[in-house]
Amino acid sequence: MAKMSSIDVLANVEKHADAVLRVCSYHRRDFDLVVVRSRPHDMQPVQASLQAAFETLPTAELGILDRLPAELMSMVLRELDIRSFFHFRQVNRRARVLSTRLWEYELVSKHGLEGLRGLLRAELAHCFAIDDLYQPLITDKCSTCGAFGGLLFLFTAERCCFDCLQSSAHYRVLPPSTFARLAHISPSRLKRLSGPSLRTVPGIYNMMETPARRPKYLVFEEKATQTLLAIGAIGEDAIRNLRSWREQSGQRFMAATAYPCYSLENAKLERGVSCKGCQVRLELLRGDSDNRDQAFSTQGFLSNFSQCVETQRLWAESEGGTRPVNEPELTRRCGYFNQLGSDGLPA
Ligand SMILES: [Zn+2]
Ligand SMILES: [Zn+2]
Repeated sequence: MAKMSSIDVLANVEKHADAVLRVCSYHRRDFDLVVVRSRPHDMQPVQASLQAAFETLPTAELGILDRLPAELMSMVLRELDIRSFFHFRQVNRRARVLSTRLWEYELVSKHGLEGLRGLLRAELAHCFAIDDLYQPLITDKCSTCGAFGGLLFLFTAERCCFDCLQSSAHYRVLPPSTFARLAHISPSRLKRLSGPSLRTVPGIYNMMETPARRPKYLVFEEKATQTLLAIGAIGEDAIRNLRSWREQSGQRFMAATAYPCYSLENAKLERGVSCKGCQVRLELLRGDSDNRDQAFSTQGFLSNFSQCVETQRLWAESEGGTRPVNEPELTRRCGYFNQLGSDGLPA
């Protein structure tokens, strides 16, 4: 098939956006499964109780807090750290009604539950307010590279992309015992001075589905070194040792969770999509193509449609989305699992 002119392509894409997305894009499910995640049946009962106030009307009051105007009350709630926020929700029915009504909380408990649960399980919830989870929820940009990012880094509650999580030095993490050894500081001193560490939870943390060795806690290297250096608890030699340390693969995945994006503009939730055509090209070129792993917002995918000949070919094969296409095994399965090699071909 000859490459369509970009005007043809744009007109086509605009008219058939939903069908184009269905035929040519897919969500990388393996990226969600390799980071911290909750099983759906654990989430459902939690979600219901988080989003509901009680059915009966509140009878008790909140004492002096009841004298605050509604706007001020919301401000107070927005400033509370997440652990205190949940304690407040337990006070009585009135507290439950007020906290459930908070717009930022409503959105986070509905769409950002993995982030909320991730912080609570990591024992980091006391470091953040609801607003710290709300802000990354309403953007789709990786805080490091600005491209679409489908993950939340739990140490900082920053949105990030899969590529930056794996490659940027900003996201380096390591077990406290390793940090202490490399930085010549006693583990107890490290614990006292370096800020909160993250408690890890069971998970896969490995693209090939063999379990990674999981330390009980992890330290955020950047924050810990800054803090300890500022008070003179470690020296420059510690920084050098830490920088040359090769991290255990999979440990960064223990500090991140999938985090969908909520668009305030069109009230839509996005998890990110990847391009099927790019996988086709990777298989044709036997692995010599590197944009297969890139994720886009649906709008970003549609605007990039004219750049990818292979995905246009899939769209043409579908005859306007009316016929099934011959797609790669990896895109059909929404990622690679242990039956597939890293190039996406059956091992
Ligand atoms: Zn990025
Ligand atoms: Zn493509």
